[in-house]
Amino acid sequence: MKFATKAIHAGVHPDESTGAIMTPIYQTSTYVQDGVGNHKGYEYSRTLNPTRHALEKNIAAIENGNFGACFGSGLAAIDCVIKMLNPGDEVISTNDLYGGSYRLFKTIFEKYGIKFHFVDMQHPTNVESHVNADTKLIWVETPTNPMMNIIDIEAMATIAKKAGAMLCVDNTFATPYLQNPLDLGADIVMHSVTKYLGGHSDVVMGALVCNDEEIAKEMYRIQNSTGAVTAPMDSFLVLRGIKTLHLRVQRHCENGEKLANFLVKHPKIDKVYWPGFPTHPNHDVACKQMRGFGGMISFTMKGNLLEDALEVVKKVEIFALAESLGGVESLIGHPATMTHASIPKEVREKTGVVDSLIRLSVGIEDADDLIADLTQALG
Ligand SMILES: *Cc1c(COP(=O)(O)O)cnc(C)c1O
Repeated sequence: MKFATKAIHAGVHPDESTGAIMTPIYQTSTYVQDGVGNHKGYEYSRTLNPTRHALEKNIAAIENGNFGACFGSGLAAIDCVIKMLNPGDEVISTNDLYGGSYRLFKTIFEKYGIKFHFVDMQHPTNVESHVNADTKLIWVETPTNPMMNIIDIEAMATIAKKAGAMLCVDNTFATPYLQNPLDLGADIVMHSVTKYLGGHSDVVMGALVCNDEEIAKEMYRIQNSTGAVTAPMDSFLVLRGIKTLHLRVQRHCENGEKLANFLVKHPKIDKVYWPGFPTHPNHDVACKQMRGFGGMISFTMKGNLLEDALEVVKKVEIFALAESLGGVESLIGHPATMTHASIPKEVREKTGVVDSLIRLSVGIEDADDLIADLTQALG
């Protein structure tokens, strides 16, 4: 089955008792058993709930995986992956990582004896040089947030296999419509469902998808044991959101391209980070592993002044100043003071998150209106 058909139908069946075409919101914590151990597959909603179950099957299908699990947030999904490790294990991760992932690794898991290396993964040799006998996980985010670097997933899979480590890819920015890490050799794919999968800025949720039965067992064991599951109502909303994922992402890509081309010609703008430019340092890798370049764009302003960036994010009218991304509406953000404020200045500046950096999550409004809005804000 092709993507658009799977997005609409995978995991979803008309309700057997009523014929309802949409998966009901099974707002229930428990399920009546005919006799001890004799139930219909559901015992308790932390373990499994029918609405969540439909969504888990749907997300697994659009990522070309066999097993899906949904969590109360993207970070809860990441937390589950790290809990597959043991004290003494080491993780090699991207250096310009989503700020919340960095905080989870550094301030929560380091004190449980897991060691994290943050490296520039654009050069696979940087990753290889950190591999040792304790390396158990390679954590990739691509495109990276907010610098839009592209990491070669196949190259990372080769390194992970040789090291006997798992490869997990945070596929939040690309979405399964543009990139499928499991097909490129990853063991686990992770999503902040909050973003493009939900797509309407009304749910916080995370997901993991894998193909390996042993990894799946661990994933479900940790999901049930730690209990960071997602609610039936939220599962319903995301099932609805995913039905239009392919249409939305197509428009995000079209608008992203138009805005990137507008920004790159603007006299007040210094650098534009968007993987669709042939001049982007990893454009060839993006072409190899992605089917489009998405609607996430970052740029810096000439002079690199904090106050210039703060003025632009204040003056926009259609773009909303907010954290998050991936919704139908366009958002603008200032990583240094917002999403990446928890990363020390010296660390973030090394990766390019300078004071004038602005990040756009280009929505699916009319591109002309978005360009007009940026034109007046940059004024
Ligand atoms: C938002 C985000 C996360 C965290 O997800 P939450 O749903 O906010 O917990 C992780 N990775 C990336 C790339 C994100 O954008």
